[in-house]
Amino acid sequence: MKDKPGIYLIDVTNRDGVQTSRICLSKLQKTMINLYLNEMGIFQSEFGFPVTHHETNYLNANLELVKMGVLSPIRLGGWVRATKDDVRVAFKQVPQIKHLNLSISTSDQMIIHKFKGKLDHRSVIKEMVEAVKEARKLGAETIGVNAEDASRTRMDYLIEFAQAAKEAGADRIRYCDTLGYDTPFSIYERIKLLAEAVKIPIEIHGHNDLGLAVANSVAAAKAAIDAGCCAYINTCINGMGERAGNADLVSVILAIKYASGMQDYRLDERVNLKLAWKICKYASYAFGVPIPINQPGIGANAFAHESGIHADGALKDRRNYELYDFEELGRGEPEIIDTGRKITAGEYSGIKGFRNVYEKLEIEFHDDKEATKILELVRYANVHNQKPLVDDELRFIAKYPDVARQIFTMNP
Ligand SMILES: [Zn+2]
Repeated sequence: MKDKPGIYLIDVTNRDGVQTSRICLSKLQKTMINLYLNEMGIFQSEFGFPVTHHETNYLNANLELVKMGVLSPIRLGGWVRATKDDVRVAFKQVPQIKHLNLSISTSDQMIIHKFKGKLDHRSVIKEMVEAVKEARKLGAETIGVNAEDASRTRMDYLIEFAQAAKEAGADRIRYCDTLGYDTPFSIYERIKLLAEAVKIPIEIHGHNDLGLAVANSVAAAKAAIDAGCCAYINTCINGMGERAGNADLVSVILAIKYASGMQDYRLDERVNLKLAWKICKYASYAFGVPIPINQPGIGANAFAHESGIHADGALKDRRNYELYDFEELGRGEPEIIDTGRKITAGEYSGIKGFRNVYEKLEIEFHDDKEATKILELVRYANVHNQKPLVDDELRFIAKYPDVARQIFTMNP
């Protein structure tokens, strides 16, 4: 097992999650997600769009946190279209970016009905190859090439596309099941063919339109490894993402660890499920989307038993009715809620109340000048988030005020 290639996670909450209809995250919330993902041992966070202007300060500020060693060892990767022009703009706006995924459609459906004559099969490969070479020239350390709608792409063309990407210098191919069209059976076969033919690490980007995102991701990772290539699964916290969502982060980890037959496959050793409860709760609060009662691992009912036979069985031995332990997911601690007076720090806070909030977090300021400076940033953070800040956000602002200021700054 040790010699086998491994499974790594690339979380795309800060890209696919935020491009989803009706939900969004502030740049501070995206930063917190990056910090939690790093703490959780996730390999990479797809942290945003380097070509989009309102992302620029946030992206550069987070790369500053990388330089400071705060966001380490996680990799922060940007998403851009696979065109030379977009790659150039990405490096112009975010010069320190080191990891990129370059995306272009590869299915007949999209080449014919989306590009509508602007690009054909040959020019799709040409554009992609030029973009990969440009990204490498401008300093990209790792490049993933995304085949959008890969699941509806002709297999021979997909292999030709991936081969060209590899020869141009790409490190990985992202197989995007953009519409959630695959089944575990079809994706296993297709990834196995692709990985065997091209011998390149495979990323799996699954969508949940048919409720198969997690199953497809696990089957695809198994196929890549059976073909001798590393697998990188794209996930989103709480299964957020376009339409019916992406593969849920915690479910994917649980499936690789505990599903039948998966024990022979090696998950990145750095992954630490202890953070699961915290990161899922935070994302739920930040997105304003409640966690369903039956969400795997995290839902209120994930470890609840009521019926006579189940309750009796679980009390005798948890393995009778539980595949994994709640403690492993960071659950089990009581949560304390203030029921008396509560001072919060908001857009219109004054210095006294503000000091009270920070004293409770056991954070002290050197002098009034420092306190006033942090208070001003906390006010902006509240304008930015439009909901009460959580303790970790308050701590972050006090610890990294200059980075926080950059995150809050936008100049349309
Ligand atoms: Zn997607």
